[in-house]
Parts: sequence; C-alpha cells; structure tokens
Amino acid sequence: MVLAELGGRITHAIHQMRNVTIIDEKALNECLNEITRALLQSDVSFALVKEMQTNIKKIVNLQDLAAGHNKRRIIEQAIFGELCKMLDPGKPAFAPKKAKPSVVMFVGLQGAGKTTTCTKYAYYHQKKGYKPALVCADTFRAGAFDQLKQNATKAKIPFYGSYTESDPVKIAVEGVDRFKKENCDLIIVDTSGRHKQEASLFEEMRQVAEATKPDLVIFVMDSSIGQAAFDQAQAFKQSVAVGAVIITKMDGHAKGGGALSAVAATKSPVIFIGTGEHMDQFEVFDVKPFVNRLLGMGDLSGLVDKLQEVVPKDQQAEIMEKISKGNFSMRMMYDQYQSVLSSGPLNQLYSMLPGVSAQMMPEGESEAKIKLYMTVMDSMTNEELDSSNLKAFNESRIMRIARGSGRIVREVMEMLEEYRKMAKRFSNLKGFKMPKNGDMSSN
Ligand code: GDP
Repeated sequence: MVLAELGGRITHAIHQMRNVTIIDEKALNECLNEITRALLQSDVSFALVKEMQTNIKKIVNLQDLAAGHNKRRIIEQAIFGELCKMLDPGKPAFAPKKAKPSVVMFVGLQGAGKTTTCTKYAYYHQKKGYKPALVCADTFRAGAFDQLKQNATKAKIPFYGSYTESDPVKIAVEGVDRFKKENCDLIIVDTSGRHKQEASLFEEMRQVAEATKPDLVIFVMDSSIGQAAFDQAQAFKQSVAVGAVIITKMDGHAKGGGALSAVAATKSPVIFIGTGEHMDQFEVFDVKPFVNRLLGMGDLSGLVDKLQEVVPKDQQAEIMEKISKGNFSMRMMYDQYQSVLSSGPLNQLYSMLPGVSAQMMPEGESEAKIKLYMTVMDSMTNEELDSSNLKAFNESRIMRIARGSGRIVREVMEMLEEYRKMAKRFSNLKGFKMPKNGDMSSN
C-alpha cells in the first residue's frame, strides 16, 4: 500500500533527525525536504505541502528554543499536528439521526465508486440500527439501476429507480418521497457521473440537490486520481454544497495523497474510506488514528475495535499475549502473508500496531515474493514455524529447506532475513498493553 510507503518515508525522515547530535537549521531543513518530497510524490498538492513546511518552520523556531527543550519532540509534534490539520477541516460532517429522515446525496465522476459506496454507506448504517433506503437517480449510465438493485438486494436494503424514466430529478423526488412515507431515516440518492467534469453533469447535480434538499452531499473520489484531486474536488464543491468526502480504492496501489488535497479543496472531512469491492470493505475515517497509523505510531483505538470484530472471542487473549511478549513466530508471518494476499483482516489488525505499520510487506510489495516466501515456509517443520529462534537454521537445514521447496539457498536466506526484520518490529511491542485511549499523539 503506497500510503504506508509515504508514512514510512516520513517516519524515516524523523528517525534520521534522531540520529544527528545537534538539531540545527540544516538538520530540520533536511528532514522537512525529505517529507516534502515524499508528500509530493504521493500526489498531495504542491500548495498544501508548501504551506505545511512554512507552518512547521513557524512552530519550530530553533533560535528561540532554549537548550533544555526537546527539539526532536517538538518537531515530531509539529509534523503530526500539521498532517492532522491537512486532513481536518475543523468542522464535523452532518451525522444522520435515527428515526428522523435524512437525505444524503452522492456525487462524483463515473467510475469513482459512487454506486458501490452508496450501498456500503447504507449497509454500514443498517448495521448500526438505521433504516436506510437507496434511490438510483443515475439515468446516464446504462446498467446503473441494475447495479444498485443487485447491491441493495444483497444487503436487504429497499431501493427505488426506473428503467424507463429519463429525468433524474423526477426519480430522485419520487424515491425520496416514497421512503419518507415508509419512515426510512436515511435516504441515499445516487446521482449520475460522467467520465470527466462537464457542465451538463454539474447542472444535473444542482437540479437534483435543489429538488431533494439533501442534508448532506458526499463527494466520492477515487484515491488513484493523483494530482488532479484538488481541482476535481473543488469543481464539485463549487457546484453543490459538498459536506463530506469518501475516498475509494484505498486498497489498491493508489498514492492516496489526493485524499489530503480533497479535504483542503472542499473544506469537508473525509468520513469513510473504501478498501475493496465488497460491502464491508469500508472503514470509518478518523484523522488522528489515521495519521498515527501513517507514521507508524499505531491506531490503538482502532485496534481494540478491530480485534473484537475480526478475531473470535476465544482467541483474542492469545493474540494479545503474543503481541505483548513481542514474540513473532514464522507462523504468524505466514498467516500475515496469507491475510495480505486475501486482503484479510489480520493485515488490517497488524497495521494498527505502533511500530509495525510502515511496511509489513516484503521489499517491493510483490505478490510473487510473498508466494515464494510462503513456499519456502511450507517446507519448514512445525517446530521451526512456531519458534522465533533463527539460530536453528544452520547450513544443512537451509539446504534441506531449499531442496524441499524447490527454491535456491539464496531465496531461503532472503526469506529468513525478511522474517528477522519483521520480528524486530514486533519486538518493539514487548510489554505492550492495550491503553484505554487510542490516541498516541500526546505521548
Ligand atoms: P460509479 O460509476 O462511480 O458508480 O462506480 P462504481 O460503484 O460502479 O465502481 C466502479 C468500480 O470500482 C467497480 O468495479 C467497483 O467494484 C470498484 N470499486 C468501488 N469502490 C472500490 C474500493 O474501495 N476498492 C476497490 N478495489 N474497488 C472499488
């Protein structure tokens, strides 16, 4: 995941600074320049990055800091604070209330993931006890209604649309009216997209908004659009009153920095991110835990939730114990890889641990490499997989494993080295206890 790479680079820049004996302008500039480069390469808009650099320099005025000050800490906090500021417009998005009808309208370009996200949003709220309904006012894309119908049926959510009516405003109004009468408290209107921003799209959006008077307009943006994010988000904001952003496809290889730009352009918070095509691959987005995770500081509040959600109750204690012992066996690495390959929950769980998030994938993130390492591990004994002692792997064992797995010795060595690095990250967690408050920022 490329955002993890961005986090890794920022963390690296901060660590580099920890290694220098005196923190002067030069050390600070080097650190900030590295962060700037990383952000720009992740598609955060230039203006934002420049502003962040200026702000940090204003906060960290090295000349005024007396000798006793912990300059590193102040710089780290300033970086953390500025990253949060970029993602936090300072006002929360409208939150629908149960038993009181709210209309939420989705807008975005075609292919951004609007229709998929509408259902995810409805499904998420349904699980929380709301009574959602979906209205397909996308008359532009052939097949849009079928897609929404299919998704809605799967999630058992009522829907409304038409195969024959071509006026999106009419459908939207009829749908909203019907579901208000049926006492739905969250009426979601999916609107048309276009392949590119064009006047007709914005005009249609304005008309649907005017007729349905949404309580919230959500702009859906594909995380892979790169530097275009800022302009696209701004164009939508200028046409309708965007009040929140959802970024999709955060599971792919998108750079994701566009998310930061979209917040700045719309002055609206990101409320969810899409992390896959499935209905439940949808995560609430909170700024501080996100930045904590980005910088490898861990998202401990998310960890508790996730642990309860994905790990069967009888195994939770065992996992926590392993984590707190800082013991990371090869079997855990095997499970982790399996989970990465299927984008499973274990991967999400580990990524919330402090000190672990930056990179849990082998160098280059290639799937082929993961599969190769798993093949090598398939030729190990159970004792080897369950231990964390690399000393057991002497020359003859390594050769046997290579032969058994049909790989060469160098590849076995490479796999063991990868394990050593991962285990080292886990060893940082020795004595780790689950805090009540997940916010690590003030430590
Ligand atoms: P729309 O034209 O904006 O309504 O986009 P769709 O909802 O039809 O989505 C376009 C494609 O993106 C579909 O193939 C979706 O399955 C896919 N998609 C949507 N959200 C995500 C996501 O978070 N991750 C991934 N990997 N694919 C997604």
